[in-house]
Amino acid sequence: ENLTNQIAAGEVIERPASVVKELVENAIDAQASRIRVEVQHSGLKQISVQDNGSGIAPDQVDLAFMRHATSKIQDEHDLFNIATLGFRGEALASIAAVAHVEILTSTDGQTATRAAFAGGVKKFQEDAGSAKGTKITVGDIFYNTPARLKYLKSPKTELLKIVDIVNRIALGHPEISLTLASDGKVLLRTPGNGNLKQDVANIYGRKVAEKMLTVENEDPDFTLYGLVSEANLTRSSRNFISILLNGRYIKNYQLSSALLDGYGNKLGGKYPIAVLAIEADPLLVDVNVHPTKEEVRLSKEKELSRLITSAVTEALMDEDE
Ligand code: ADP
Ligand code: MG
Repeated sequence: ENLTNQIAAGEVIERPASVVKELVENAIDAQASRIRVEVQHSGLKQISVQDNGSGIAPDQVDLAFMRHATSKIQDEHDLFNIATLGFRGEALASIAAVAHVEILTSTDGQTATRAAFAGGVKKFQEDAGSAKGTKITVGDIFYNTPARLKYLKSPKTELLKIVDIVNRIALGHPEISLTLASDGKVLLRTPGNGNLKQDVANIYGRKVAEKMLTVENEDPDFTLYGLVSEANLTRSSRNFISILLNGRYIKNYQLSSALLDGYGNKLGGKYPIAVLAIEADPLLVDVNVHPTKEEVRLSKEKELSRLITSAVTEALMDEDE
């Protein structure tokens, strides 16, 4: 109880892209090396995420769909030491509350269980067969919350948001093979061979990938690795900057500004294309700020900013030589 009270209750599911993000992050937490996302009609009709991760035991399925049920923290101290992407135990419960959800999951690739939830209630559970891993299918999102439906943008925009989040997660996990298909058409497929440049080529194009410079830096608290575009390859918005903290895509204005600072005045008011993966001691990260976990609070943010700026400056200097 104490623990649940410490976790700020919040709205996790705003749109189809939020479902995709939560399900893919769960798959990553489950150590999947292959993840396939399929959406029908921009996710408004159906979203499915299939992984080859650990699976869920039949007698743990109910628990997984309970609010504040998470296998990822044991007590309140863990709240300050969060290494996995999920920790609130809110996503599956929230999704099952506003959609029809079906799960097919196996921990061993031999026995499996299939269950369905709707409006927060379990409809059935039965034995099944399946490969090891989990497939979660979400249909009719917001069928019981018309106000939410009204708040959504056009199907085209909702699909763009799905593509955007999958792209960014892919960039943060070059070691995972990620596939995104929309109405049967494959929009992204990454090989999962750990090659970040190849993922950049897949997502932003080969020409862009060729003009990316490696950035690296570390201090006792942080390790940085990433790719940033040469100063003459720019975009007119910040949207092409992806910052990942311990594998999680985050939005942090200070850190992206630190990245821009590394360019000095070379950008002419424009923005680079960049992927920056930051590994930090989980003790320095407070992800418990916003329900969708995109905004995080960081200790030693100034130190990290300096580390980022100097890494970018150095990468550009190497280019000049
Ligand atoms: P959280 O990720 O914050 O723990 P979720 O509601 O997203 O909460 O998931 C609840 C629990 O269900 C997880 O803690 C995990 O034990 C289990 N789970 C969810 N998705 C998967 C998956 N794809 N593979 C294995 N276990 C999963
Ligand atoms: Mg989760």
